[in-house]
Amino acid sequence: MSFQITLKAGRERSVLNRHPWIFSSAIAQSSRTPPDGAVVEVLSSGGDWLARGTWSGNSQIQIRLWSWREDEPIDGEFIRQRIARALDGRTALANDPATTAYRLVFSESDGIPGLIADRYGDYIVVQLLTVGAALRAQSIVEALVDLLQPRGIYERSDADVRAKEGLEPEARLLWGEAPDGPIEILENGQRYLIDFISGHKTGAYLDQRTNRRRVAAYCRDAEVLSCFSYTGGFELQAAAAGARQLTAIDSSADALAIAAQNFERNGLVVPVEQVEGNVFSELRRFRAENRSFDVIILDPPKFVQNRSQLDRATRGYKDINLLAMQLLRPNGILATFSCSGLVSIDLFQKVVFGAAVDAKREVQILERLAQAPDHPVLLTFPEAEYLKGLICRVV
Ligand code: SAH
Repeated sequence: MSFQITLKAGRERSVLNRHPWIFSSAIAQSSRTPPDGAVVEVLSSGGDWLARGTWSGNSQIQIRLWSWREDEPIDGEFIRQRIARALDGRTALANDPATTAYRLVFSESDGIPGLIADRYGDYIVVQLLTVGAALRAQSIVEALVDLLQPRGIYERSDADVRAKEGLEPEARLLWGEAPDGPIEILENGQRYLIDFISGHKTGAYLDQRTNRRRVAAYCRDAEVLSCFSYTGGFELQAAAAGARQLTAIDSSADALAIAAQNFERNGLVVPVEQVEGNVFSELRRFRAENRSFDVIILDPPKFVQNRSQLDRATRGYKDINLLAMQLLRPNGILATFSCSGLVSIDLFQKVVFGAAVDAKREVQILERLAQAPDHPVLLTFPEAEYLKGLICRVV
């Protein structure tokens, strides 16, 4: 017997509009309380069938919707078809020999709530972020093996969001073999060492791939400062594009060590100054030392995890943007990003505006950037859009 969930009157609109989340506050009653991850049938207050999803008893987002077709069961074949459809959307990347790491499946945006799958060369790294996805790990693995024949599938479900679903962090080999250390992948023709077993996220920040290339286009003959460098993502592209001198700041010595290896691997002879430290204080030190740059990249980690942190985070964004503007030479380029989903594009632009006013610099927006196209945003699910960036000319 399936589980039937009836919505409160007036709460059907978002389901009819194919938004994939149902909050607990929208639920009037359930036939029986479903076990975590179970398939549930969602009914209107009048009893009409609306959609099918999976139950997350611990989460405020109590139901994730997977299908709006009554004749479509959520089974192994469904998962296989959805993954195949996601891969169809990435054929240009699959056929590009210069890039071997990218996102294969992006959760709700690809119709599988809670499943992230990233390709790193011959390996696949998955995150199972909802209990509905976690329970279906086996079908997911079978489909990925069948469709892509990887050497191994590794799970990096150690993101904090798992806790909201009542799930423990998990990092393990799911299928095949794991590499015994970092592996090499290609991005826009540059070689990067990726340690997907112990690196950040699933190993790299794939969402910035297209932006690294865009920013590199401004780096020819430039003295470039990359803040929040991690393993040198932006710098390698900038160096390949002809940067004259690179400075990279990151608080992680391990990340900087991998970045140094990446430079060597690519035979880049550009002088690189690595600074292990806090961007907020290092930029102040640079200002006190009267240093200046032609291009400054700000790619901070997510400052905002929930609404209560929004004020503090906006002050943080303003601070680094203001400092960067003060360090830029006339006609300098500021490439500034925010990956906090709760910071809208409008708010982010306002923050950069505030920084420009305080810095007393005239600032033009040259380009607006977003997450790479292998992280698509479904029109019915705008929450999937989280990464935003501006390339500005600081006159
Ligand atoms: N630009 C990178 C990704 C940056 S991820 C790329 O393209 O791959 C964010 C990085 O910021 C992490 O490496 C983390 O170690 C670093 N970090 C976080 N807070 C920091 C701080 N206050 N000062 C310096 N580095 C910081």
